[in-house]
Amino acid sequence: MDLAKQIVENGIEGVSLTGGEPVVDSALPEIMKVLGSEGIEMTLVTSGTIVRDEVLDLVDRYGVFVWISLDGPKYIHNLMRGGNVFEKTMRSIEMYRERANGVGLVMALSKVNSYYVEFFIRIAAKLDIDRIAVIPAMPSGRALETGIYIGSKQLAEVLRVVDDVANEIGIYVDLWCMPFAYTLRLRRVNIYGCRTTEVIDIDPAGRLLLCDTMDIAIASAAPCLRDAIDRYLDSDVVKSVVYPRLSEPCSRCLFKDLCRGGCFSRAYTVFGDLNAGDPLCPYVARYREIE
Ligand code: SF4
Repeated sequence: MDLAKQIVENGIEGVSLTGGEPVVDSALPEIMKVLGSEGIEMTLVTSGTIVRDEVLDLVDRYGVFVWISLDGPKYIHNLMRGGNVFEKTMRSIEMYRERANGVGLVMALSKVNSYYVEFFIRIAAKLDIDRIAVIPAMPSGRALETGIYIGSKQLAEVLRVVDDVANEIGIYVDLWCMPFAYTLRLRRVNIYGCRTTEVIDIDPAGRLLLCDTMDIAIASAAPCLRDAIDRYLDSDVVKSVVYPRLSEPCSRCLFKDLCRGGCFSRAYTVFGDLNAGDPLCPYVARYREIE
């Protein structure tokens, strides 16, 4: 709550409420009220397996955009989520569609579900969803333990399917955390990178993180968010990813000004170096002979 108030005082433009699962957090409604009543733009990222009426009302009142995770058809979604939750997710998509200021569906691509990406896009288009996104499962947390994270070659094949289906339907698909996708010369995708100081990840303990997939804290928001942001912006580690000195093959890459070395979290996890290039990039995978 203190952080939410400081977010308001510091003129932050928008907050994405994510998790874990933010909807189960008992403080979520109060946090939404503090942010929403001051006109701060909010997005909510949820699995959609639990919908709380109070949150739904606040989503409606403050014009929140809601992202919901869908991992594929019923069998695959239930397998990935570890329970019989597909129907609940589909119901919550409908409920949020009636109340939210737009709904997006996001699919985390892994070895288990990536062959169902066409199903995902077609069902999202059929439901007339506002935004559709795919993101590769990161080689961290559970995906690292189970080894289900996707490799470079398979991901390139999947992204070509994404592009073909999107092109056929006449829609665009957002590619999260895949700036190297410029190398694939796709037609129907929006590509996003994150080597920027415009967005900062903050964990539940109030730590400003280098990335929410990495346990690298740069500063603590307590007691003063403004000071923490200043320390964050002044941090050598942050500067090293925002203004990267890239090594080969990125340093010679035609797309380096757009991609800027790709995902530094994956580079760190796989190569132990934030600027060693994104292991999911086909150029990097070939250069380093990994798959
Ligand atoms: S070689 Fe490096 S800069 Fe070029 S697309 Fe791949 S990750 Fe990005």
